[in-house]
Amino acid sequence: MLMKKSTKHIIIIGAGPGGLSAAMILAYRGFRVTVFEQKKSIGGRNSALRLGNYTFDIGPTFLMMDFFLRELFTLAGKNIESYLKLIPLNPMYKLSFIEKELNVVSDHDEMRARLAQTFPGNEKGFDRFLQNEQQRYSKMYPCLRKDYSTIFSMLHPDLITALPYLSIGRSLYQNLGNYFRNELCKLSFTFQAKYLGMSPWTCPALFTIIPYVEHAYGIYHVENGLHSISLAMRQVAQEHGAVVHTGQKVEKIVTDHSRTARGVVLENGEIIESDAVIINADFGHGVQTLFAPGFIRNYTPARLAKMNYSCSTFMLYLAVDTLYPEPHHQIIFAHDYRKNISEISYKGILSEDLSMYMRNGSILDKTLAPAGHSGIYVLVPVPNLLSEIIWDENKIAFYRDTVLTLIEQRTSMTDLRSHIVAEHIITPQNWWADFNVFNGATFNIAHNLLQMLYFRPHNRFQECKRCYLAGGGTHPGSGLPTIYESARITVDLISKDSLLWS
Ligand SMILES: Cc1cc2nc3c(=O)[nH]c(=O)nc-3n(C[C@H](O)[C@H](O)[C@H](O)COP(=O)(O)OP(=O)(O)OC[C@H]3O[C@@H](n4cnc5c(N)ncnc54)[C@H](O)[C@@H]3O)c2cc1C
Repeated sequence: MLMKKSTKHIIIIGAGPGGLSAAMILAYRGFRVTVFEQKKSIGGRNSALRLGNYTFDIGPTFLMMDFFLRELFTLAGKNIESYLKLIPLNPMYKLSFIEKELNVVSDHDEMRARLAQTFPGNEKGFDRFLQNEQQRYSKMYPCLRKDYSTIFSMLHPDLITALPYLSIGRSLYQNLGNYFRNELCKLSFTFQAKYLGMSPWTCPALFTIIPYVEHAYGIYHVENGLHSISLAMRQVAQEHGAVVHTGQKVEKIVTDHSRTARGVVLENGEIIESDAVIINADFGHGVQTLFAPGFIRNYTPARLAKMNYSCSTFMLYLAVDTLYPEPHHQIIFAHDYRKNISEISYKGILSEDLSMYMRNGSILDKTLAPAGHSGIYVLVPVPNLLSEIIWDENKIAFYRDTVLTLIEQRTSMTDLRSHIVAEHIITPQNWWADFNVFNGATFNIAHNLLQMLYFRPHNRFQECKRCYLAGGGTHPGSGLPTIYESARITVDLISKDSLLWS
């Protein structure tokens, strides 16, 4: 389809997944698009870390609901296969409990058989889980795809029809009790709350759609690492004429007397005019820093202080000179997972009995490290910066040691320390200082019902005209697929709204 060129200029603040997704579609639709990214490289949390010849993903390591990403490329007039190789994962991941291990597979018959073997009797619940959660998902899916800029959007028939499926007042963990009796089996379908940085014991039951979509549609690795998605998006945006500046921080959004965004001021003082601005910067950070003092009326510092935030993560990226026979994705559970989650989410203390996620990159993707070597990515959920934990040198050294000991004890990597040739650590403090993640809450503002749909910051930002949001802090939420969807919703709003701009 040949798109008619628009004279409208859209500035995007941030080249994270939300900003780049919006850039490629808007540019294809003929808008003049300028992206300003403060860092020297693009991708935000979805960028690469290189330690010599080893390549790590900083943040996302797997893609679910691949169809959202595929749709974005189609909407940008491109075939995703020309840019990215998506590799379905089977097994999807290994779950390591003290007592048992379970390789979670995407084939339903095989999964049922594995459940029968590992948690006898619980396999019967698997079919009910798939059947019931398919219904919930089919009701929720249209609701994910809508814009909730006005309170009337909450009266949309799709949402009203979905209401009984929200299971209001029930948690993900409680809901799983409908299907499985064995405690570890329940955890095998509830730990996904951590993808949102939440506790399964308080995460709304409607998020049972997350384990459901994993089992229904599978999960994917992307060859060369997930950060390749960001690189591909920038390429598509540039092929359509978007200009992507790196190392250029936006200092402020310029607004006029009618509270309308008119452009941005860069760090060097230069003013760039535009017809609209999209904020992709982390929500809490952006709203606090990008507007003139006093401009924001609703999301004031006092309001931000009262909001709920996801947990943070302590990250270890280890370049090792050997290739261990460990799975690509693995989750190692604490002895007492509930206590561990409670320490992260409510008590604000560092667990000694901790859980972690680990990726052994080269077992699947040989491009990530030299032959026979691997990059080990370790993500440990920890309290965000609203806790009183100070990440000083001693604390970092202690926690690194705790994590390495756990890996050496619970996996075949018994001599891990002796194979580390380079490493990098990111703490909650680094997430805030280096990545501008407000409160170090890596998975953004929480997804409790009072911070979702109309109650989440709107895609058409309610504080400022011609200002929009794309990213994890707006609707629908903070995982890659929902961030892609946030960008799609936002560009559709801009395409419509711009028809009325003079
Ligand atoms: C450790 C980790 C693991 C994760 N794993 C997964 C996973 O496996 N699968 C999944 O689906 N999701 C995962 N996520 C969640 C989610 O995919 C990421 O958080 C996502 O990358 C966030 O995208 P974003 O567009 O909202 O923001 P960001 O990636 O934070 O991008 C915002 C950009 O704005 C820039 N910026 C900020 N302020 C300014 C300014 N003033 N001027 C110019 N630029 C500015 C920043 O530098 C940044 O590049 C993970 C997240 C983390 C942190």
